[in-house]
Amino acid sequence: MSALPPVVDGHNDSLLALRRASADPAAFRDGHPGGDLDLPRARDAGLAAGLFAVFVPSEDCFGPEAARTETADGYRVQRPPPLAPSAARRVTDELLEAFDVVTGFDGVRKCTTVEDLRACVEGDELGAVLHFEGAEAIAPDLSNFADYYDRGLRSLGPAWSRPTQFADGVPFRYPSTPDCGGGLTDAGRRLVERCDDRGVLVDCAHLTARGFWDVHDASTNPLVVSHSAAHGVCPLSRNLTDDQLDAVADTGGVVGLTFAANALRPDGDSNPDVELSVVVDHVDYLVDRMGVDHVALGSDFDGATVVDGVGDATGLPDLLAVLRESGYSQADLRKLAHENWLRVLGEVWGS
Ligand code: ZN
Repeated sequence: MSALPPVVDGHNDSLLALRRASADPAAFRDGHPGGDLDLPRARDAGLAAGLFAVFVPSEDCFGPEAARTETADGYRVQRPPPLAPSAARRVTDELLEAFDVVTGFDGVRKCTTVEDLRACVEGDELGAVLHFEGAEAIAPDLSNFADYYDRGLRSLGPAWSRPTQFADGVPFRYPSTPDCGGGLTDAGRRLVERCDDRGVLVDCAHLTARGFWDVHDASTNPLVVSHSAAHGVCPLSRNLTDDQLDAVADTGGVVGLTFAANALRPDGDSNPDVELSVVVDHVDYLVDRMGVDHVALGSDFDGATVVDGVGDATGLPDLLAVLRESGYSQADLRKLAHENWLRVLGEVWGS
């Protein structure tokens, strides 16, 4: 039987996890007991590369459950207020320093081109792409965009689940459509145009439905959602409806499937005690709807409660093996595992 293909993963929050644990970034290189991902586990798992998020948390969002209201059939989480730009830049700079340290280790490669990523898929290094999840650190006049580009920024989401100067983010609600908030601002449209000009991916993860369609209209690139799941299986506000999936496929884009329990479980619960079949159900749904060329992985390792069936990064081979057993060919697995990400990033980055 052929070897399982290496994985390019659309999203992790390992930089933030290191910061939260007050861990020396060397813990990433040497391995550490907590979290979902480090270099030894990436090697074990055949993880070739990933998009490493710089994400500035709204502490109140991760604090007391007071922000969450139970409803008759689910829950609603209050949308956190916008971040102060100075705080966003300060934390972004700290996480950028951690990114530089991690990508300076032997065995890790900072990736800014598809050639870099391909070398990681074919070789032994772990590739790291710099991504901003929420673009609060970028000035509305884009005056510091080039600085971040020079630091390696090749992907950004205009908003996480809170408003920014560029867009509104979709709050956590279950059940709910993603149509709960505004779209791109004028500055957001300029940001999308700048990203297209410079070859930076615009990630529609966590945008409202309006924001998603605004990016669709403003960008000439394929639509990409780095980590989400099928609303048709789990009606979470942050999941993608069928018309959104159709638009991603029509533009030649890709959806990275998250392993977050609350985005996968049809009942919206965040209890991770579920099997791999819940992930396979979403893969099947996405492939049936969009075709196998538009589905990829976007784990959210270190940023979400990952379903027990995957566990941590070392569960990636188990997932691919189960997909193979359920009928996906070796060619399909290569697309799901890395080829779709390489195709779309090549198109957007122009490399
Ligand atoms: Zn996210």
